[in-house]
Amino acid sequence: MGFEYDDQNIFAKILRGEIPNDTVFESDHALAFRDITPQAPTHVLVIPKGPYMSLDHFTQEASEAELVGFMRAVGEVCRIEGVSQDGFRAISNAGRDGVQEVPHLHVHILGGRSLGRMLARET
Ligand code: AMP
Repeated sequence: MGFEYDDQNIFAKILRGEIPNDTVFESDHALAFRDITPQAPTHVLVIPKGPYMSLDHFTQEASEAELVGFMRAVGEVCRIEGVSQDGFRAISNAGRDGVQEVPHLHVHILGGRSLGRMLARET
Protein backbone atom coordinates (compact mmCIF):
# COMPACT_ATOMS: atom_id res chain seq x y z
CA MET A 1 0.00 0.00 0.00
CA GLY A 2 1.30 3.47 -0.86
CA PHE A 3 1.24 6.21 1.73
CA GLU A 4 0.34 9.73 0.61
CA TYR A 5 1.31 12.20 3.30
CA ASP A 6 -0.66 15.47 3.41
CA ASP A 7 1.77 18.22 4.45
CA GLN A 8 -1.12 20.56 5.28
CA ASN A 9 -2.13 18.55 8.36
CA ILE A 10 -2.04 20.39 11.67
CA PHE A 11 0.97 18.54 13.09
CA ALA A 12 3.01 19.31 9.95
CA LYS A 13 2.15 22.96 10.57
CA ILE A 14 3.30 22.63 14.19
CA LEU A 15 6.60 21.10 13.01
CA ARG A 16 7.10 24.01 10.59
CA GLY A 17 6.44 26.48 13.41
CA GLU A 18 3.27 27.81 11.75
CA ILE A 19 1.10 26.92 14.76
CA PRO A 20 2.22 27.17 18.41
CA ASN A 21 2.46 24.16 20.68
CA ASP A 22 3.14 23.44 24.33
CA THR A 23 6.38 21.48 23.96
CA VAL A 24 7.30 18.84 26.54
CA PHE A 25 10.35 17.36 24.79
CA GLU A 26 12.19 17.76 21.50
CA SER A 27 15.02 15.84 19.87
CA ASP A 28 16.46 15.45 16.37
CA HIS A 29 13.73 13.02 15.35
CA ALA A 30 10.75 13.71 17.60
CA LEU A 31 8.60 16.41 19.15
CA ALA A 32 6.31 15.94 22.15
CA PHE A 33 3.66 18.47 23.09
CA ARG A 34 0.51 18.68 25.20
CA ASP A 35 -2.78 17.67 23.61
CA ILE A 36 -5.00 20.71 23.17
CA THR A 37 -7.98 18.75 24.55
CA PRO A 38 -6.47 16.70 27.38
CA GLN A 39 -8.36 13.59 28.43
CA ALA A 40 -6.24 12.85 31.50
CA PRO A 41 -3.94 14.85 33.82
CA THR A 42 -1.08 13.80 31.54
CA HIS A 43 -1.96 13.86 27.84
CA VAL A 44 1.04 14.36 25.61
CA LEU A 45 1.38 13.64 21.88
CA VAL A 46 4.70 12.32 20.60
CA ILE A 47 5.30 12.76 16.87
CA PRO A 48 8.19 11.98 14.56
CA LYS A 49 9.64 14.94 12.68
CA GLY A 50 9.49 13.07 9.38
CA PRO A 51 6.41 12.89 7.13
CA TYR A 52 4.80 9.66 8.31
CA MET A 53 1.09 9.03 8.59
CA SER A 54 0.87 6.08 10.95
CA LEU A 55 2.91 3.49 12.84
CA ASP A 56 2.45 1.24 9.83
CA HIS A 57 3.91 3.86 7.47
CA PHE A 58 6.67 4.83 9.91
CA THR A 59 7.89 1.31 10.60
CA GLN A 60 7.97 0.55 6.87
CA GLU A 61 9.79 3.65 5.66
CA ALA A 62 11.66 5.40 8.50
CA SER A 63 15.39 5.01 9.06
CA GLU A 64 16.69 3.18 12.10
CA ALA A 65 17.81 6.52 13.59
CA GLU A 66 14.26 7.87 13.21
CA LEU A 67 12.74 4.72 14.74
CA VAL A 68 15.08 4.78 17.72
CA GLY A 69 14.77 8.54 18.19
CA PHE A 70 10.99 8.35 18.22
CA MET A 71 10.77 5.47 20.69
CA ARG A 72 13.29 7.07 23.03
CA ALA A 73 11.20 10.24 22.97
CA VAL A 74 8.20 8.22 24.20
CA GLY A 75 10.27 7.08 27.17
CA GLU A 76 11.58 10.57 27.85
CA VAL A 77 8.03 11.89 28.00
CA CYS A 78 7.04 9.20 30.52
CA ARG A 79 9.94 10.23 32.74
CA ILE A 80 9.37 13.99 32.33
CA GLU A 81 5.67 13.59 33.12
CA GLY A 82 6.36 11.29 36.07
CA VAL A 83 4.08 8.47 34.91
CA SER A 84 6.67 5.68 34.75
CA GLN A 85 5.92 4.36 38.23
CA ASP A 86 2.12 4.53 38.37
CA GLY A 87 1.68 3.71 34.70
CA PHE A 88 0.27 5.17 31.54
CA ARG A 89 -1.42 4.26 28.29
CA ALA A 90 0.14 4.76 24.86
CA ILE A 91 -2.35 4.93 21.99
CA SER A 92 -1.78 5.47 18.29
CA ASN A 93 -4.92 5.74 16.21
CA ALA A 94 -4.59 5.00 12.51
CA GLY A 95 -6.88 5.41 9.56
CA ARG A 96 -10.64 5.15 9.32
CA ASP A 97 -11.27 2.28 11.71
CA GLY A 98 -8.79 3.72 14.21
CA VAL A 99 -10.63 7.05 13.99
CA GLN A 100 -7.44 9.01 13.35
CA GLU A 101 -8.16 12.75 13.13
CA VAL A 102 -4.71 14.07 12.27
CA PRO A 103 -2.87 12.15 9.50
CA HIS A 104 0.61 12.52 10.98
CA LEU A 105 1.80 9.68 13.23
CA HIS A 106 1.30 10.47 16.91
CA VAL A 107 1.37 8.43 20.07
CA HIS A 108 -0.87 9.68 22.85
CA ILE A 109 0.69 9.26 26.30
CA LEU A 110 -2.08 9.33 28.89
CA GLY A 111 -1.67 9.05 32.63
CA GLY A 112 -2.04 10.67 36.02
CA ARG A 113 -5.26 8.78 36.85
CA SER A 114 -6.65 5.29 36.43
CA LEU A 115 -7.65 5.06 32.77
CA GLY A 116 -10.20 2.26 33.05
CA ARG A 117 -10.55 -0.53 30.55
CA MET A 118 -8.92 -0.09 27.18
CA LEU A 119 -12.05 0.00 25.05
CA ALA A 120 -15.68 0.73 25.82
CA ARG A 121 -17.87 -1.76 24.01
CA GLU A 122 -19.99 -0.05 21.34
CA THR A 123 -23.68 -0.95 21.49
P1 AMP B 1 -6.29 11.33 16.83
O1 AMP B 1 -7.76 11.17 16.91
O2 AMP B 1 -5.54 10.17 17.41
O3 AMP B 1 -5.82 11.71 15.44
O4 AMP B 1 -5.94 12.52 17.81
C1 AMP B 1 -5.62 13.82 17.41
C2 AMP B 1 -5.38 14.61 18.68
O5 AMP B 1 -4.77 15.83 18.32
C3 AMP B 1 -6.64 14.94 19.48
O6 AMP B 1 -6.51 14.39 20.80
C4 AMP B 1 -6.65 16.48 19.49
O7 AMP B 1 -7.11 17.00 20.72
C5 AMP B 1 -5.20 16.81 19.24
N1 AMP B 1 -4.94 18.10 18.63
C6 AMP B 1 -5.53 18.63 17.53
N2 AMP B 1 -5.00 19.83 17.24
C7 AMP B 1 -4.04 20.06 18.16
C8 AMP B 1 -3.13 21.13 18.40
N3 AMP B 1 -3.09 22.23 17.62
N4 AMP B 1 -2.29 21.04 19.45
C9 AMP B 1 -2.31 19.95 20.26
N5 AMP B 1 -3.14 18.91 20.08
C10 AMP B 1 -4.00 18.96 19.06
